[in-house]
Amino acid sequence: MKTILLTTLLLLSSTFSLQAASIDKFLSGFSAEKITENVYVIHGQNSDPSASNSGFINNPAFVVVETGVVVIDPGSSLDIGDMVLDRIRLITQLPVIAIFNTHEHGDHWLGNQAIVNAYPDIPIYAHPNMINNISEGVGETWFSRLQQLTENAITGTKIIAPTHPVDHGDEISLGQRTFKVHHLGISHTSNDIMIELPEFKTVFLGDNAVIKRVPRLDDGDILGTIAALELMLATTNTYFVPGHGHSGDKAIVELNLEYLRILYDTVKTLYEDDLSDFEMKDLVIEKMDKFVDWYGFDLEIGRSISLVYLQIESADF
Ligand SMILES: [Zn+2]
Repeated sequence: MKTILLTTLLLLSSTFSLQAASIDKFLSGFSAEKITENVYVIHGQNSDPSASNSGFINNPAFVVVETGVVVIDPGSSLDIGDMVLDRIRLITQLPVIAIFNTHEHGDHWLGNQAIVNAYPDIPIYAHPNMINNISEGVGETWFSRLQQLTENAITGTKIIAPTHPVDHGDEISLGQRTFKVHHLGISHTSNDIMIELPEFKTVFLGDNAVIKRVPRLDDGDILGTIAALELMLATTNTYFVPGHGHSGDKAIVELNLEYLRILYDTVKTLYEDDLSDFEMKDLVIEKMDKFVDWYGFDLEIGRSISLVYLQIESADF
């Protein structure tokens, strides 16, 4: 009996160490890209969480200010958060002094743990709805979902919730720099914040914008997302960081607006012509041919049409 237990334990530990080695190897391929002076982004793999990418699909970022480093969305696991810290160390030895989480989706914030392990008392800023939803279990839901999708690549990751609520119009001063928070209500989720750094002409859009992949509409509101993006397009910033996909200029915002407006307008017109969501699918896809090569299009577009259809229908009553 003892031998069987020992063999099982040995097998399990060798499976874990093999898995840990492959996660390390995968993450070693990512470096921090300088977007503009003092602003860095580590662009994750632009796909869904899987065993082969260990769940690293978002864009962790950091901003070097006078007294330290501010981290935005440190990824989906302890390992990814540790990698973010390693990349920061290649740029500066200043301490991390704060974290921002853009919204409740676990691929963006479960990496908080790594930063907090190294800097236990730092504030983690997020929208109050995110803090509330985590207290009601959304962190556990995301942990389980990511464990399943990655075949347990985030084992050992603990849920570290944000500590400091921030809302629309708040301006947080960190190391002499301003972090301005934008939230217009429900957009990609009920709790997205977009973070504007006026001094660096940079906006972190969170998942209100994604590039070369279709946006997930399941937890949000398409008109709210359009309103949030219009607000950012009206600013004079130069650098825009999407939640997934590569950073760039304001074309990122324009392209997402185009995607969402074509989707919304076409579904609305066909809804008014009394077509069902199923009947309109091919007609909507025809209008969206510019986006058919975006990751997840074939798989998601039917569901996106249904979600928009439901939103239009409920607004109609
Ligand atoms: Zn998201």
